[in-house]
Amino acid sequence: MKTLIDRASEVAAVAAQYCDAVDRDARFPHEAIRAMKEQRLLGIMIATEYGGEGATTQEIAEVCTLLGQHCSASAMIFAMHQIKVGSLVTHGEDTQWHRDFMRRLTGEQLLLGSATTENGTGGDLGSSICAIERKGDTFTLRKDATVISYGQHCDAILATARRAPDAPNSDQVMVVLTKDGYSLDKTVDWNTMGMRGTCSEGYILNAQGENEQIFEKPFAEISAQSMLAMAHIFWAALWYGIATNAVSRAQSFVRIEARKKPGTPPPGALRVAEAASMLQLMKASIASSIHRFEAGRKNVDDLTSVSFAIDMNNLKIGASRLCVDIVQQAMMVCGIMGYKNDTPFSLGRHMRDAMSAPIMINNDRIFGNTSNLLLVHRLDQRLAG
Ligand SMILES: Cc1cc2nc3c(=O)[nH]c(=O)nc-3n(C[C@H](O)[C@H](O)[C@H](O)COP(=O)(O)OP(=O)(O)OC[C@H]3O[C@@H](n4cnc5c(N)ncnc54)[C@H](O)[C@@H]3O)c2cc1C
Repeated sequence: MKTLIDRASEVAAVAAQYCDAVDRDARFPHEAIRAMKEQRLLGIMIATEYGGEGATTQEIAEVCTLLGQHCSASAMIFAMHQIKVGSLVTHGEDTQWHRDFMRRLTGEQLLLGSATTENGTGGDLGSSICAIERKGDTFTLRKDATVISYGQHCDAILATARRAPDAPNSDQVMVVLTKDGYSLDKTVDWNTMGMRGTCSEGYILNAQGENEQIFEKPFAEISAQSMLAMAHIFWAALWYGIATNAVSRAQSFVRIEARKKPGTPPPGALRVAEAASMLQLMKASIASSIHRFEAGRKNVDDLTSVSFAIDMNNLKIGASRLCVDIVQQAMMVCGIMGYKNDTPFSLGRHMRDAMSAPIMINNDRIFGNTSNLLLVHRLDQRLAG
C-alpha cells in the first residue's frame, strides 16, 4: 500500500512537469490539482468517520514541503485548501451541515478557497465590512473580495463577514459557501511577479445559503484556535520547500565546479554551507511550531494565549524572511546560471515566488500585531517549553 509520501511524491512529479508553463502563463495548475484528487489528498485531514484519513499537521506540512520543492503555486493551493479544511475539522463537528459537508468533501474531493481579504480592510483578517443578512433559515452575502485564489476553480469558498448588518466590524463569522450557491464577478486580474499559478483574482462574491452553513463559533475563535496557526505552519512548510530546492540547485552547481578543479574549493561552497545553516533554522522553527500547535490542540487555553499568538506570528515572519534570504544566497552561488531562465540552476521562479511570502499578510501588519502584544506580555526567556 502506498504511503502518504508516496502519493504526494506522485503529485509532486506531475507538478514539476508543468510548473514552468503554469508560471509562464499564470494559469491554474490543472494537472497537479487533478493528481491531488486522484491521490485523494484533499480530504486527508478529515477524520476517518467522514471518509478522511485523520492526517496530522506534521504530515500535511510534509506534503506542503514536498510540493513546494517542485511547484510553489500547486503547493500554495494545497496549503490554502488544507487551512480551510482545518477550520472545518476543528469547528465543524457541532453542526450536521458541516459534518455532511466533510463527507462530501472527502467523497467528491472538493477544493476549498478562501475569501477573507476585502476591499476596504485589506489584510486585516479581524475586520469585515460585508455582512450576513438572514431571512428565516436562509442568508445572503455580498462581498467585494479583492483576492480569492483559484476562485474560478473552487468547489466551495469559506468567507468571513460581519455576523449581521448591525454588527461591528470585528464581530465576524465564517461561512461555507458552496458553488451552487454563489456567483463570482471578476473585478481584478492576477498578473503578478510570482505565485502566478494561484490565479488569485478579485471578485464580487454574491452568495446565498442556509443558516446552518455559518459556523457557530465567532470567527475570532476560529482564527485563534485553528486558522492562523495552520496558515503560518503550512505556508512556512511550503516556503521551506522552495528554499530547500534552491539550495539543492546551488549545491549541485558547486559540486560540478569542484569536479572541474579538484583540490580548489569553489567560492560558492561557503555560501552553500551558510545557506544550509539558514535552512536548519527555518526547519527548527517550523518543527517547534508544529509541536506547540499539536500540543495546544489538547489545551484550548494555550491556543488562545498571547505567547502562542506571538510564536505563530514569529514563525510566519521568520520563515518568510529566511525563504527570501536563502533563495538569494543560492542565487549568489549559481550566479548567471541561476539568474538565467531554462538552466538546471535557474532560480528566477523560486525568487519571484518567495517574494510573495513577506506580503502574504504583510509582515509589517504582523509586526504591528506582535508589538501590541509585547506591550503587555513578558518576553519568553526560557529555552524549554
Ligand atoms: C499569493 C497570494 C494569495 C492570496 N490568496 C488569498 C486568498 O485566497 N484569499 C484572501 O482572502 N486573501 C488572499 N491573499 C491576500 C492576503 O491574504 C493579504 O490580504 C494580502 O497579501 C495583504 O495585502 P497588502 O499588503 O496589500 O494589504 P495590507 O495588509 O492591508 O497592507 C497594506 C499596506 O499597509 C501596511 N500595513 C498594514 N497594516 C499595518 C500595520 N498594522 N503596521 C504597519 N504597516 C501596516 C503594509 O505594510 C502594506 O504596505 C493572497 C495573497 C497572496 C500574495
